Amino acid sequence: MDMTPLQLIKNEYPNLPPQLSGLNDLSNNLWWSWHPAARMLFKKLNRQAWKESSHNPVLMLRQVPREVFDSAVQDPQYMRHYNSVLAQFQKDLDPKEGWLSENMMNPNHFPIAYFSAEYGLHHSLPFYAGGLGFLAGDFLKECSDLKVPLVAVGFMYPGGYVHQHIREDGWQEDFGRLLDREAASISKVLDNDGKPIVVKVPLIEPPIYVTVWKIEVGRIPLYLMDTDIENNDLSNRKISEYLYIGDVEQRLRQEIVLGIGGSQVLEALGITHSVLHLNEGHAAFALVERIRDRLQGGMNHEKAFEEVLNTSVFTTHTSVPAGHDVFPFELMEKYFHAYWPALGLDRESFFRLGIHPDWPSSGFNMTAFALRLSGYRNAVSKKHSKVSRQIWQPLWPALPEKLVPLDFVTNGVHVPTWIDPKMLLLFDKYLGPQWLEDHDNPALWELVDDIPDEELWKTHYWLKIKLIDAIRERARKRWAEDRINSSLVLSGGTLLDHSVLTLGFARRFATYKRADLIFHNLERLKKLLNDPWRPIQLIFAGKAHPADDPAKRLLQKVFHAARNPDMGGHIAFVEDYGELMAQYMTHGVDVWLNNPLPPNEACGTSGMKAAFNGIPHLSIWDGWWIEGYNGKNGWAFGKKEIPGDRDEADAEAIYDLLENEIIPLYYAFSGEGIPHAWVKVMKEAIKSAGQKFSALRMVKEYISKFYANALKKP
Ligand SMILES: *Cc1c(COP(=O)(O)O)cnc(C)c1O
Repeated sequence: MDMTPLQLIKNEYPNLPPQLSGLNDLSNNLWWSWHPAARMLFKKLNRQAWKESSHNPVLMLRQVPREVFDSAVQDPQYMRHYNSVLAQFQKDLDPKEGWLSENMMNPNHFPIAYFSAEYGLHHSLPFYAGGLGFLAGDFLKECSDLKVPLVAVGFMYPGGYVHQHIREDGWQEDFGRLLDREAASISKVLDNDGKPIVVKVPLIEPPIYVTVWKIEVGRIPLYLMDTDIENNDLSNRKISEYLYIGDVEQRLRQEIVLGIGGSQVLEALGITHSVLHLNEGHAAFALVERIRDRLQGGMNHEKAFEEVLNTSVFTTHTSVPAGHDVFPFELMEKYFHAYWPALGLDRESFFRLGIHPDWPSSGFNMTAFALRLSGYRNAVSKKHSKVSRQIWQPLWPALPEKLVPLDFVTNGVHVPTWIDPKMLLLFDKYLGPQWLEDHDNPALWELVDDIPDEELWKTHYWLKIKLIDAIRERARKRWAEDRINSSLVLSGGTLLDHSVLTLGFARRFATYKRADLIFHNLERLKKLLNDPWRPIQLIFAGKAHPADDPAKRLLQKVFHAARNPDMGGHIAFVEDYGELMAQYMTHGVDVWLNNPLPPNEACGTSGMKAAFNGIPHLSIWDGWWIEGYNGKNGWAFGKKEIPGDRDEADAEAIYDLLENEIIPLYYAFSGEGIPHAWVKVMKEAIKSAGQKFSALRMVKEYISKFYANALKKP
């Protein structure tokens, strides 16, 4: 099929002189977000404008006056920096070379299509709720670095996910903030006549239309659908308004648009894909759209199902039942009655594709559906594959649990995104300047031992001060600008002290993550917080889903502790957790705390981000930590299975570890003020993360386990 010559409306900046026109290209490609030298190029132009734009180059370049650009052009040092960044940018986008085409795949293959309901790419693009989104965002960036031929599809949610303020009584207040689509690194996709492209979601009545935006993630195009256009009635316009709509019918419509509309968008753009990869079940209707497409092209029924099976990859991301979407049959009937005939199926046989045999009447289960139609299936950690095989064994009644065809690829994080630039410089110095290109090589990470303790410790300490400064600055601003009560200013972190051992706990407030576990025995905790010589402090952050009242009650409990003077000002709750605060926290606390109720943590990734920055993990025996813990790189507890309520046992295990191991180790400073034994644990954390938990290792594993095989099939 011919590529339709598409145009994009790109951002333009009237003040930008031609000598700096490369800044325009850079601002329109998120490549800048994971290359510190590129970020520095914007920052150096004008620090104040960079800060005020919240690190958004599009917004910033619009606001910077002509004189600023002119003086940059006159500054030879700036221009040298500019030229070097642009040369790297062009080299990275060069389609000719790449690890992948040299090693695995025929570069003439059609691209892999990657579908996800959320993408966490940068805080200026609010298309994420949590871990699933960052996994997808990190995946795209790594595919760009590795030059994997991939195109991605998702939603342009102008409302993003909820924002959070905490009321004086500790209740989470949700509010929306609309994205200014014109002030972000995204471009509108136009048709041949220069008009925004409009695509109709096929066979769905009444019809739904989408328009399309594009984000360039390095070499990877990400197409985002937007239903907020005049062709749609009001309720259709709101389909893409924000992430994870609570109303079940609207949610179904969202998933129809994602899977079926998304496939249609690729077709309208002239993009034929070879392999489909579903990041979680939300987009699983893309599978039937692939089948329908083949039937329409004249393929027989059996072959069409087989071909789709052999070229589709499905990744499941949760072991919590509420994480799997199940739609009532009446609703499915309402939207799909015109669709199943096009698949050569009747009502019953279509519904059978989405039934979990243990709960046949509960509705159409998107995960069961995706598992049945995808020939490559995986969980996101070794433990998660075991749990998932147990949950989904009924789909393969003839097989014993351990033979259920559900593999695993343990998640990893995109190192250039999550490592702090200061830490990056330290690695450049001791791991060699080429370390980033080769960073899934385990031997490389042994060089971490060569970093002098003092340098690593000083870098970490600097990042800790930076975190605490950022938290205080937020609290100060809320006080000065929003006139919040001063007790909220205190609980927001103004009393934090950078000389105190600091534990961080930041993630979605889902109840199974047990954010309140450490408050189980208040007396014991208070003693640790208020110890006059060796105190500890806790920093919490995270949002509850707007409809999740139990999680909001948990948050309220944490918040009340933060404002209770008995805790000595050693607990902070930081509002409105997002990518920016995640960067500060995973770079700047001393210990990353993780205590979900096993076996619910599918993998977890924030602890990996912390580990890459030298922050050891204090975690329960679940998710990635089962593969990650080696006895030297942090602390593990709760290995034993405990039936019934295990909060008490787990909380006591945390206090024991803190009292007997963590606190004494941290405060054992040498005469020069360096805690050498602690720094050894920090180094082990970095080494083990580097050896096993990078997105580089992860993407290569997806390629060798799934993509390479799927591409050999027709
Ligand atoms: C990494 C990340 C997450 C996911 O963390 P988990 O450990 O998987 O819960 C959530 N939110 C943000 C902002 C992140 O950066």
